[in-house]
Amino acid sequence: MTFADLNLDSCLLRAIAEQGYQQPTPIQAQAIPAILLGKDVMAGAQTGTGKTAAFTLPILQQLLAQQFDRSRLRALVLVPTRELAQQVEANVRIYASHTDIKVAIAYGGASIGPQIVAIKQGIDILVATPGRLLDLLSRQILSLDAVQHLVFDEADRMLDMGFKEEINQIRRRLPNQRQNLLFSATFDDGMFNFSQRMLTEPELIQV
Ligand code: AMP
Repeated sequence: MTFADLNLDSCLLRAIAEQGYQQPTPIQAQAIPAILLGKDVMAGAQTGTGKTAAFTLPILQQLLAQQFDRSRLRALVLVPTRELAQQVEANVRIYASHTDIKVAIAYGGASIGPQIVAIKQGIDILVATPGRLLDLLSRQILSLDAVQHLVFDEADRMLDMGFKEEINQIRRRLPNQRQNLLFSATFDDGMFNFSQRMLTEPELIQV
């Protein structure tokens, strides 16, 4: 399989080619078609498997296909740590580099001012840690009303770090109709319970 077989826009294929990727990784080959169909996906994948592109590329594709709600927050990626937020945001920027999709980042332990300025410019995708996102929501800096795609990246670490209550609060601000994507290195009963509450009939992918 090649990336061209995945029905991705030429501006995404161009960014992929610039990265030197020859072919989709196993998680990408399985997750991208399912996500493009609009399904919820629950994927078991370690770091280094190409999981970031596995959720980012099909989200970008779906955002590009939509003519309305441009520069409104339509995709939210929740991550456990500042480091992962920075890493994911950098990747999203690369894959979106030939599009007009706008990305911002929000994490705690850094001053909130510049994050607010970036968000207020109008964004399509936000990569955020749960606590800082709630802070921004309580300041009414952004609304989650138009979010159509929600990603939990490294969901096991998010639960281990005790973000369950924050995530519940965030969920209450989200539209009911949305696509949910969950990536986790490990799955235990707690994770299955969490995914049952957050996802709707997810397609399971294990690589
Ligand atoms: P991740 O698992 O998302 O942290 O990605 C791990 C690394 O794999 C990153 O440095 C990506 O740039 C790289 N990568 C992602 N997809 C591919 C691919 N299809 N071919 C080669 N490298 C890739």
